[in-house]
Amino acid sequence: MRVVQGRIGPLLVTLHGTVTRVAIVPLLALSVTAFHSTIRPLSAPVRAELGSGGFWHQGCPVSLAGLRLLTVTHWGFDSRVHTGQLVVNADAAAPLALVFRSLYELRFPIRHLRLADAYGPVRSRPDDNDISGSFECRQAIASPCSSRVRKGNGTWSEHAYGRAVDLNPVENPYVGCGMSRDPKSRRYLDRSRLRRGMVTPAVVAAFRSIGWGWGGDWSGSTKDYMHFSASGH
Ligand SMILES: [Zn+2]
Repeated sequence: MRVVQGRIGPLLVTLHGTVTRVAIVPLLALSVTAFHSTIRPLSAPVRAELGSGGFWHQGCPVSLAGLRLLTVTHWGFDSRVHTGQLVVNADAAAPLALVFRSLYELRFPIRHLRLADAYGPVRSRPDDNDISGSFECRQAIASPCSSRVRKGNGTWSEHAYGRAVDLNPVENPYVGCGMSRDPKSRRYLDRSRLRRGMVTPAVVAAFRSIGWGWGGDWSGSTKDYMHFSASGH
């Protein structure tokens, strides 16, 4: 958002024949950057990055040709407009562009949404690990309820198809039996008080408008508050 601020004045106004000084009048003209999105095939460098980082490999349930690079405008925690990127399934890219348009209009802040944050060398990833994104060829992660260790449960995650999105995982943890594996998420286990970056009903509605479900709606004591997916799983 660009704020163009100008001022005119001290205004001199005549009231009942006396000259009165009126306060300086600030003029605030708000010109908000418009939402923008693009959908592109994966470039050779992005394909290479996914491969070298182990995010895609032979045997994954979707080919690299079946994935797209989705670029979107989004709000950051710094209350500024950023450009974010996600790797998603080709059939999810256009619907997700609509969702991110809604999130932008809601001014929903997203902490990190760059390819380098998700797929770059470990040393270049943000220390806070509050990274949003979509595609990762991996198994679904067992509930924190069943194990303290982050391990797969033997079935492909919806992320392995590029048909799932995680938003602000620190503010929206994966919870099982009242526990999360990330100590930074502890204060967000209480979902009754909405704080910045937490998924709101309007965010859930934005995903629901394209038929996607939310992990916060799962029945039982395991909830994945960061997680949205086409299948609802
Ligand atoms: Zn997820």
